[in-house]
Amino acid sequence: MSKRTFTMIKPDATAKGNTGAILSMINAAGFRIVAMKMLHLSAEKAGEFYGVHRERPFFGELVEFMSQGPITAAILEKDNAVEDFRKLIGATNPAQAAEGTIRKLYAASIGENAVHGSDSNENALIEGDFFFSKLEQF
Ligand code: ATP
Ligand code: MG
Repeated sequence: MSKRTFTMIKPDATAKGNTGAILSMINAAGFRIVAMKMLHLSAEKAGEFYGVHRERPFFGELVEFMSQGPITAAILEKDNAVEDFRKLIGATNPAQAAEGTIRKLYAASIGENAVHGSDSNENALIEGDFFFSKLEQF
């Protein structure tokens, strides 16, 4: 069972002042924050992070959006973290997200969808290490 996942509170949620409310939902769902920082991604870094989507038609839009303002990056710990966190955030498109999920509550569209959640244990490790040195992971 995986213990850790990685998340970002995206620029749309930061701009709307939803960071605190989203962190509260994350804690209330039983996740422990074991690393956290606020930063503004360059377009280059945003493109590197989402490199797997480089050939997709929405890649340019995604990079522009993710570098438009500050994000909060965090590593979260809980049993079954990756799968449980994907359930908490809801579907990529908020129109399809279940009631009570973070995206249902705070996302405006499939592009501006408030939060990121790792999709596998392997990617959770890669993504956490992208933002945090070992000294910053508790
Ligand atoms: P994330 O990786 O951010 O947690 P996800 O795993 O639910 O999201 P992905 O398929 O990995 O969805 O897409 C990454 C991000 O790219 C989405 O969260 C969204 O911001 C953007 N995106 C995905 N599909 C589209 C689309 N059709 N149009 C615009 N943006 C999109
Ligand atoms: Mg994804």
